[in-house]
Amino acid sequence: MIDEMSIVKDYASRLPVDVVGIIQDLRIDYVEQPMAKESSGRIDYSDPFCTITVNSNESSQRRRFTAAHELGHYLLHRDLLDGKQHLDRLFSQGGRDNPYGPLSPSHEVQANKFAADLLMPAGSLRAKYNADLDNVPEMAELCGVSVAAMKIRLKSLGIRA
Ligand SMILES: [Zn+2]
Repeated sequence: MIDEMSIVKDYASRLPVDVVGIIQDLRIDYVEQPMAKESSGRIDYSDPFCTITVNSNESSQRRRFTAAHELGHYLLHRDLLDGKQHLDRLFSQGGRDNPYGPLSPSHEVQANKFAADLLMPAGSLRAKYNADLDNVPEMAELCGVSVAAMKIRLKSLGIRA
């Protein structure tokens, strides 16, 4: 039995967080391949096997976010996914429609929160944000996320207006 949470915690202390490293240490297969234009990623789970697929046509920042989102589904929702496949459409569309189920919008919110917490840890952001410099690009680089994602995260944490 792998101690999943201690693996995640160990990786989470080093920025940018090596999401693919976590996935592979958890013995999940990780694949990047071209997918349909509106698709960001997919998780296929059939206990004990899991494959996370990420659309190789998307930017590296988005691929990292998608991988973290799918990892969140694995850690939080795999009981619901057993024997099934879950496809994620573009998160910019709010992740509202996932016609391939079997998860609900609240599960998407949870997976997005997991991904944000993992890639942009609140403690690190509080420690490194400098209001005088407004060093958002530097922090986005540090976390391997887009500047837009970092701005949203800093705002939601109340660190930056
Ligand atoms: Zn999802």
